[in-house]
Amino acid sequence: MSSGTDFTLAIEGLTVSFDGFKAVDDLNMYIDRNELRVVIGPNGAGKTTVLDLICGKTKATDGSIKFKNTELTRLSEHQIVRAGVGRKFQTPSIYENLTVFENLEISYPKGRGVFGSLTFERTAEIDTQIRKIAAEIFLDQHLEQEAALLSHGQKQWLEIGMLLIQDPELLMLDEPVAGMSVREREQTAELLQRICHGRSVLVIEHDMEFVARIAHRVTVLHQGRILAEGAMEKVQKDPKVIEVYLGH
Ligand code: ADP
Ligand code: MG
Repeated sequence: MSSGTDFTLAIEGLTVSFDGFKAVDDLNMYIDRNELRVVIGPNGAGKTTVLDLICGKTKATDGSIKFKNTELTRLSEHQIVRAGVGRKFQTPSIYENLTVFENLEISYPKGRGVFGSLTFERTAEIDTQIRKIAAEIFLDQHLEQEAALLSHGQKQWLEIGMLLIQDPELLMLDEPVAGMSVREREQTAELLQRICHGRSVLVIEHDMEFVARIAHRVTVLHQGRILAEGAMEKVQKDPKVIEVYLGH
């Protein structure tokens, strides 16, 4: 039985005001463990700002963001990452001159394991983990390749891998399939469905075909507020949603 306190993320009354303009206005949103939530809405609706608030890049004017039992609005960006929140920005931030393997290695959380010391066992453990993640992101055949030579889609996957290796309980992705080929989109849909097991995934996306394929639930934002929320089939038929977003 769900008790109402099992949410990975519980956002209540969240508001941010930029010089009196409320980009996010009294938002309530709850995301479960194992859930893949997609946030959609017109440009300027406040979608990216919600991610900025969750990851601490922007400070809330009012309201609460509970991640399990931790209040995130009081923490720094760095503390929020350490609490288990990973966020991917629209443009991939990978190290172009390093290999795929090295990019994953550099992202492996430091200080995990006994004193964070680099013993033989630890090196083997990191190596195993890197190969596992590389396979998950379709890059196991590219471990020694310089990241600069990857396709745009492969770079996006590498950055997802760099987050996955930190094993976040909440993973947030801002427009992950922008600029991807049809085939890469299909693979990304499969990847996202796989990685929401054991964690929560929050995705902002415009590609409705892609949204329909991945979303467990959809939240439609408009002018910093929730216009509609629920299953894609329901949200798609909502006259309010068609008027402000899907109709265009
Ligand atoms: P979306 O991602 O849905 O397109 P954003 O969250 O980027 O929308 O922006 C929502 C609104 O908030 C926009 O009108 C934007 O100009 C404004 N905004 C976002 N961040 C800031 C900021 N740091 N300072 C002032 N205005 C901002
Ligand atoms: Mg945005």
